[in-house]
Amino acid sequence: MEIEINLAPPEELKEKPSDVLKVPFGTVFTDHMFSMQYSASKWHDAMIHQFAPLSLSPAALCLHYGQGIFEGMKAYKHEERVLLFRPEKNFERLNRSANRMVMPHVDVDIALEALKKLLLIENSWVPDVAGSSLYIRPTMIGTQAKLGVKPADEYLFYIILSPVGPYFREGFSPVNIYLSTEYVRAVRGGVGVAKTIGNYAAGLFAGTKAAEVGCSQVLWLDALERKYLEEVGTMNIFVKFDDELATPPLSGTILAGITRDSVLTLAKDMGVKVMERQISVDEVIEGIASGKVVEMFGCGTAAIIAPVGSLWFNDRPYTVSDGKTGKLTQELFDELTGIQSGIREDRYGWIVEVD
Ligand SMILES: *Cc1c(COP(=O)(O)O)cnc(C)c1O
Repeated sequence: MEIEINLAPPEELKEKPSDVLKVPFGTVFTDHMFSMQYSASKWHDAMIHQFAPLSLSPAALCLHYGQGIFEGMKAYKHEERVLLFRPEKNFERLNRSANRMVMPHVDVDIALEALKKLLLIENSWVPDVAGSSLYIRPTMIGTQAKLGVKPADEYLFYIILSPVGPYFREGFSPVNIYLSTEYVRAVRGGVGVAKTIGNYAAGLFAGTKAAEVGCSQVLWLDALERKYLEEVGTMNIFVKFDDELATPPLSGTILAGITRDSVLTLAKDMGVKVMERQISVDEVIEGIASGKVVEMFGCGTAAIIAPVGSLWFNDRPYTVSDGKTGKLTQELFDELTGIQSGIREDRYGWIVEVD
């Protein structure tokens, strides 16, 4: 597919943030974006152009019925090289989300080629200071103007870029999370497994409850029994019990995180006993009391690895790891961010260089 390139006029190029580490996550966007349209059963008009507002019918199906999916990935700069981390996994997952939401697939190779072209143009926007990256947001929405409930037959796919520092204001330091017993995120057979926009809207209310008690993220339990850990906010969850590192299985209600998959691989190779299994909230609360729960962290592209300092459950906080970052959590963070940013050896073929 031919990608047309229409660069922004030089006098309209934006000023880059002087300290990217201080920019609130996802608030600054680069000069250009990629977009392509879908109609009559095919993608067309692939274009890199100036970052600009969309023109959309007020009746666009995505605005009314939520046909929207997205991805989140990052580009790093190391010694002038621009690096992506397992990017094909994101586009494969985008297509799985598309299946669930009855949306068209994008060709993984075309999407990756478009992203690389965009990154070459925006090379000077990829920050190179430690702890920074260029966050990449591929998005697809149903644009057909129609108020009848049905899958759209016109779509827009686009990619925007945002230079970022740490996801949490705290940086890489323990976060407080809120265990939601009243509200749930996803049920089996629902859309929890898809990276679709409505999942986040559904979670906002519990987020306000979390904020009231000083927690920045919600830890969801399964919807049926309200007993087993699912995931936390924008991240998958890991708990270290003595010498076992456990994470909930991909049972159809949680997002299959690429960071989760990478952490499982890294931990295994560090000689840690890893388990994908159900983890009950009782096991965690009792384990915190008995000292069996030694570490806990969330992981996802945006935050990478976020140590859990405390867990709010039934009107009181439970401190994890004395509120500090656990040893394995730190090792995994160092190894993963080291590989992603090109500082440590990539033994897995995870890094894709943009050139
Ligand atoms: C994106 C996301 C994750 C993390 O996935 P990564 O591929 O590791 O970034 C976890 N949970 C939810 C709900 C997500 O949307």
